[in-house]
Amino acid sequence: MAITHDLKTYLKKYFGYDDFRPGQEDIIKHILTGKDVLAVMPTGGGKSLCFQLPALVSEGTAIVISPLIALMKDQVDALCANGIAAACYNSNQTPESQSELWAGLRAGTLKLLYIAPESLQHLVQEFGQHKISMIAVDEAHCISSWGHDFRPAYTRLQDLKERFPGVPVAAFTATADAATREDILFQLNIREAHTHIASFDRENIFLEVRPGTSRFTQIMSFLHEHPGESGIIYCLSRRSTEQLAAKLRDREVDAAAYHAGMTPEERSRVQEDFVNDRIPVVVATIAFGMGIDKSNVRWVIHYNMPRNVEGYYQEIGRSGRDGLPAHALLFYSYADVIQQRRFIENTPTEEVQSAKLERMQQFAETLHCRRITLLHYFGEKLEKGCGHCDVCKSPPRYFDGTVLAQKVCSAVARLKEQEALGMVTDVLRGAQNAAVFDKGYQHLKTYGAARDVAWRQLQQYIIQMINQGILEVRFQEHGRLLLTDAAREVLFNGRTVKLAHTETPSAKKKKVSPA
Ligand code: ADP
Ligand code: ZN
Repeated sequence: MAITHDLKTYLKKYFGYDDFRPGQEDIIKHILTGKDVLAVMPTGGGKSLCFQLPALVSEGTAIVISPLIALMKDQVDALCANGIAAACYNSNQTPESQSELWAGLRAGTLKLLYIAPESLQHLVQEFGQHKISMIAVDEAHCISSWGHDFRPAYTRLQDLKERFPGVPVAAFTATADAATREDILFQLNIREAHTHIASFDRENIFLEVRPGTSRFTQIMSFLHEHPGESGIIYCLSRRSTEQLAAKLRDREVDAAAYHAGMTPEERSRVQEDFVNDRIPVVVATIAFGMGIDKSNVRWVIHYNMPRNVEGYYQEIGRSGRDGLPAHALLFYSYADVIQQRRFIENTPTEEVQSAKLERMQQFAETLHCRRITLLHYFGEKLEKGCGHCDVCKSPPRYFDGTVLAQKVCSAVARLKEQEALGMVTDVLRGAQNAAVFDKGYQHLKTYGAARDVAWRQLQQYIIQMINQGILEVRFQEHGRLLLTDAAREVLFNGRTVKLAHTETPSAKKKKVSPA
């Protein structure tokens, strides 16, 4: 069969596209020659087509394993609308639709069968009697406890290769860190698989991180700068999505909340209103976005820092799928780090997760090109700064922060290493609040020693000191700050400290007119 020629014809006929996206054709050809495949492609890269098309041109039925029922339904509906025989199995189906499904399987007319990993077990026998063209494992990172989204049911896929000898297994994921990748190959027992790793660079997305202070005000001015554009604001909790959406509506921004606590009807209404441009702004938990096919999302704001880089990348990747300019804005505050830490404390995967959280924090605090930092995480190199992120646009300026650092270390010492970042900042600023007075901190020698530095900036400088290893945070003990050996050198041995100015461009402008 002249595969190459036919593939393009099929692409046009069934999907209406003229050309393959990078990697698609290569992946499809490998599957069609019976090879196992691991394809790592960013969200929106076009993974589905890589198994849908080979399923169409092969004899028999392709099994597609997917973790989300909603996602399966959407894909099946879209396929059927294009005249492709696809179905999705679930145990609650009516007997009629199940027997229809079995008939299609028996006759070999059913081209794609979507199924959740939980349901696979009791169908393996049944499948064994029919012609299975290939097995596609979508969101394959769910099999790895290294991944950010481990699903125990995925471990049932470990013996697929054994149960379906000779049937190509194609694994797809948008999670690319090397450890997860290796783990997928190992767990699925497809160690010889052809691996395709697409570039993770989404050049059209401008990357920006801002300090998480006065977030609402910042969001309002961001919205003024992006009139009429569609965007998503991600929050950590259900409650905060609702509160923020309500606050935005009060200011005449057409915003809707979205989270897993809403009824399925409410959720699909919000989703449809968003996709069809009836609601421009959705304030959501990370439950929102999986499987949403909207190409003109112009911006994504993270109200809080996500817990790992994979999640961050996936979420910002929902913007600019049409290739036109998009903007990813992340609000970062130290308090978010502490809260995220609480979420993962004492969970079985605490160690892995806190390492990932640390990488996320490093991204948020990096003083280098964000894109270099981000791509580095995915094992990709960028030779020079991208010119399309906040750091490239206004590189940090350093100053000699030795005296300030001495004041901070001295305050930490006088607070007997018992207080967390917030209180240390308050004391240095000479804050007059009950918490300070209750403990008599106004009598300390360092009280008010840095009152000339704005609160937010001082906090940023202290965070830089933490990152430089001068101070240490005890997360398990309410985040109290400790002095390290480096701090003792700063205090007693004349060690100098370089700090980066922390103003954002807009803050710099404001400074012109003194408050
Ligand atoms: P992923 O699963 O990798 O996140 P999808 O498979 O959902 O991505 O594809 C993302 C979008 O790209 C979809 O709208 C899909 O129809 C579109 N797409 C896929 N392949 C092509 C192609 N060759 N040409 C144009 N659009 C494509
Ligand atoms: Zn850059």
